Amino acid sequence: MANQEDIFKKVISHAKEYGYIFQSSEIYDGLSAVYDYGQNGVELKKNIREYWWQAMVQLNDNIVGIDAAIFMHPTTWKASGHVDAFNDPLIDNKDSKKRYRADVLVEDHVAKIEAKIEKEVKKAAKRFGDSFDKQQFLETNPRVLDYQAKADGILKRLGKSLENEDLADVKALIEELGIVCPVSGSKNWTDVKQFNLMFGTKLGATADSAMDLYLRPETAQGIFVNFLNVQKTGRMKIPFGIAQTGKAFRNEIVARQFIFRMREFEQMEMQYFIKPGTQKEWYDTWKEKRLKWHLSLGLGQDNYRFHDHEKLAHYADAAADIEFRFPFGFKELEGIHSRTDFDLGSHEKYSNKKLQYFDPEENKSYVPYVLETSIGLDRMFLAVFSSALQEEELENNTTRTVLKIPAVLAPTKAAILPLLKRDGLPEVAHKIVEELKWEFNVVYDEKDAVGRRYRRQDAVGTPFCITVDHQTLEDETVTIRHRDTMEQQRVKVDAVKDIISKEVDMRYWLQRI
Ligand code: ATP
Repeated sequence: MANQEDIFKKVISHAKEYGYIFQSSEIYDGLSAVYDYGQNGVELKKNIREYWWQAMVQLNDNIVGIDAAIFMHPTTWKASGHVDAFNDPLIDNKDSKKRYRADVLVEDHVAKIEAKIEKEVKKAAKRFGDSFDKQQFLETNPRVLDYQAKADGILKRLGKSLENEDLADVKALIEELGIVCPVSGSKNWTDVKQFNLMFGTKLGATADSAMDLYLRPETAQGIFVNFLNVQKTGRMKIPFGIAQTGKAFRNEIVARQFIFRMREFEQMEMQYFIKPGTQKEWYDTWKEKRLKWHLSLGLGQDNYRFHDHEKLAHYADAAADIEFRFPFGFKELEGIHSRTDFDLGSHEKYSNKKLQYFDPEENKSYVPYVLETSIGLDRMFLAVFSSALQEEELENNTTRTVLKIPAVLAPTKAAILPLLKRDGLPEVAHKIVEELKWEFNVVYDEKDAVGRRYRRQDAVGTPFCITVDHQTLEDETVTIRHRDTMEQQRVKVDAVKDIISKEVDMRYWLQRI
């Protein structure tokens, strides 16, 4: 089996080859950690966004959407804590001149220890066969316990030093663990420094009147500052939510993981305004709801896990990530954060405006608490795309590359293929395209043998191929081929629309939530 790195490389090259993702300004050798979506990528991204929006806004009568500007008054970021605390600890290697996130270097070291545990488990599973009890093994094997204690100890110390802003200790930890630069192999490190992740820019024409602004590092603040506008004009009653999708910008220190960590990316966030004291209940509810949304897409239950945060951000009283098994291991895909009244309370202070809700049941006003769900659209794209890409061995000893994107998200739903370029077959195929294009995205393809056209559509992820042949002229039937099973059925032309609609309609997928 190919190793993780090879699989990830394959994902990146496939995304480019089939018009999903290009490097930004590639003709000028690109811009690091910035990407463009191509003709198929834009459709997949739009469908994921829509799938989220319908689940959050359309299907919840107490959640509404907004679209706030990327530029916000600079005091917003003072109030939110981003000016003072939105930092990552960075460290440089003096020999390679490469820059790293100090916490990530330590975490990668811990991941290596955890990999050793995995190895022990695999070895033991082989040795004990069916009688192997993984849980018992993890809890009793001395070597595993030793590794686990080491890993836990390192993470605990890292968490504590970061919380206390003790950067000297973070460096000491890197030195004690003997961590070397992956490029130069040396331990010649600089001190650890804090680095603010916000991009600055200026508003205004002349140098002296210009105002310093930031590109928003998260969409959430656009929701907080509009909380009362929406609550009043929408006559919203607590609990209620405000949802938003849009661009966010972070000057990430290391950006080497394709669209997993970008400097310009898109978030899909929802802030749920609740009564103080009910946050635990809503935290559990939204964790469960969001996981169900993910599972409804059928990417495989084993590919998800929760990770509860030990070190909490300055605004949170509880936080968990939904992690996904990316080609480079389990990593954060979505965050569920119990943000207390930190944001609204802080905006009250900085703006001198009341941001309170009058609760008719309690007959009093209060600053609501907030439960947030925050997912990166690009990361979700990577989750869908990387798990969909598969190499299949076929019966006749050949292989096919197939992109098993959930049909509801696929950029193109059907390809219409005349078997031959003559005998009136293209005309009939064009007629089918004309009818279906009012329902969903379809393409017409007449180039090459039909087998090759099937492979092309498999690789780009089109769930259905409709083939027009001579029999079509006689009895108005076509063959419909299913991407995942490669099964072919002969059906009436009139039935095609319904067959495809059933499989691609968001309603059928969302009903699983
Ligand atoms: P990480 O620990 O990976 O840097 P984070 O904890 O800073 O992420 P949040 O601030 O909670 O992330 O942002 C919410 C979501 O936004 C994340 O779960 C992720 O899906 C997405 N996201 C954050 N940073 C990036 C980025 N640089 N590129 C792409 N998506 C991102």
